Amino acid sequence: MSSSVSDFIRNRIRDDIENEVVDGTIITRFPPEPNGYLHIGHAKSICLNFGVAEEFGGKTYLRFDDTNPLKESEEFVESIQQDVRWLGFDWEDRLTFASDYFDQLYSFAEQLIEKGRAFVCDLSAEEIRATRGTLTEPGSNSPFRDRTVKENLDLFRRMRAGEFDEGSRVLRARIDMRSPNIHLRDPVLYRIVHAEHHRTGDKWCIYPMYDFTHCICDALEGITHSLCTLEFEDNRPLYDWVLDNVSINFHPPQIEFSRLGLEFNVMSKRILTSLINAGHVEGWDDPRLPTISGLRRRGVPAEAIRDFCSRVGVTKQANLIETNLLDFCVRSTLEDTSPRAMAVVDPLPVTVINFEGEDVTLEAPNHPKNSELGKRELTFGRNLFIERSDFRESASKKQRKLTLNGLARLRYGFIVECVEVVKDGQGSPIELKVRYVPESRSGQDTSGLKPRSTLHWVSATNSISAKFRLFENLFNVREPGSGDPRDELNPTSRIEKDGLVERVVVDDDWERCQFERNGYFIKDLDSTPMKPVFNRIVPLSSGVH
Ligand code: ATP
Ligand code: MG
Repeated sequence: MSSSVSDFIRNRIRDDIENEVVDGTIITRFPPEPNGYLHIGHAKSICLNFGVAEEFGGKTYLRFDDTNPLKESEEFVESIQQDVRWLGFDWEDRLTFASDYFDQLYSFAEQLIEKGRAFVCDLSAEEIRATRGTLTEPGSNSPFRDRTVKENLDLFRRMRAGEFDEGSRVLRARIDMRSPNIHLRDPVLYRIVHAEHHRTGDKWCIYPMYDFTHCICDALEGITHSLCTLEFEDNRPLYDWVLDNVSINFHPPQIEFSRLGLEFNVMSKRILTSLINAGHVEGWDDPRLPTISGLRRRGVPAEAIRDFCSRVGVTKQANLIETNLLDFCVRSTLEDTSPRAMAVVDPLPVTVINFEGEDVTLEAPNHPKNSELGKRELTFGRNLFIERSDFRESASKKQRKLTLNGLARLRYGFIVECVEVVKDGQGSPIELKVRYVPESRSGQDTSGLKPRSTLHWVSATNSISAKFRLFENLFNVREPGSGDPRDELNPTSRIEKDGLVERVVVDDDWERCQFERNGYFIKDLDSTPMKPVFNRIVPLSSGVH
């Protein structure tokens, strides 16, 4: 089996299959740490790992990297599974946890001690840092480096038995304090943490570090291509060292690709967590966040995220992607499948002064091109609403608006002429009085009039009130995350408007739809039977807010 997509990772896999470097099946893994919710950067890694396995007829593990009980929880484990599934991927029976391997990891650590390749070190974290050296200067050996195997084994077993305080001792690899690669300067392999683990409870009070755990789990699972982001490039020699020094006869290659960055967004779980804790956003699923749960609540379809990831592609170049690309993917996913309706986000009442009697029933297609989406009825009567921003008292060449004494067509309805503007004490319009042209009915227009503008509208009888949430970028700066978030946040990232929506959208429980000229929307879970709430997924074109 092969793949039609081409990038350096897929090319490498094709070569490995052709040259029989791998026998049998391609096996990948997605290894999240359950210390937060997934974001669109993770989606890139998910699409890559599950994507290549699918394309080459392989398999993918969802493996939780749960080696830090202080930061990890079951809530995150659950949300991550939900998000991967929602993105459209299936790990089948390959759900694993690094903690499943704690016993094996422990015996590999004893192996290293027995070979003289690991030692128990009593230096404090600070002392270890201080003796590690710098990029230009070598580190210095720990005074505990030459303990005997017997002493090391004894101390390590007593670390495991809980005899020592947190931070008092660690297990370190015995590699080379003079290595030009800082990761090889006797890195810490195990530390003492007296904390309850969400899966292993209080069985362990020593926990393996990422660099020791990850490569061994990869090898035990038979991962044929261990794909990770570029910041792990310098860890690769350590990945290889561990596997070369424990007795496992399988050695996956680690292959690095660049992280996804999205303009005006942060991806760091640490910063996301602090935004939530400080109340700058309402939770992990706030529609302004680039989290999968935020994007889902915003209304972004999983298909659009997959399309986005495939357009971004996989390279080793640093990439900060424009939010426009994501918007483009969302629009092109929704364009053909979303029914249209009309909503007025910021209503200005309109009285049709020459309209008398029963409302007129009109018909409107639910999609201009896709007739399979059907039709719906609209009613036209004496009391209507248009968008406040669609009225301007005097005409301007550029703007297509209704003006005093001007004409406009109300979409699928009639042409109206504005004959009077009623204003409040401040001079703002509070009502328009218009006359409609009875022979201008849409589809049967014999009026001969050609107004320049067509406006969306609703009538008092076929609309209900609704709240609309309009979103902009959460941050004002292109690459946020370095300063105080309060200086970088966009104060208008979420604006709420009270408006009106065609009743049918709520009565028939439409999922996602386009409100003509306003954008694509989805009903939010804050909706109540009395007051639906709609999130704007994306406006109809970029730059329109
Ligand atoms: P953070 O640094 O915010 O804690 P992380 O990278 O440590 O995030 P993990 O849960 O360890 O988060 O990530 C799981 C996998 O997702 C890793 O293989 C990681 O390389 C990948 N990943 C994380 N962020 C991105 C990103 N922005 N682009 C591509 N892949 C990513
Ligand atoms: Mg990580």
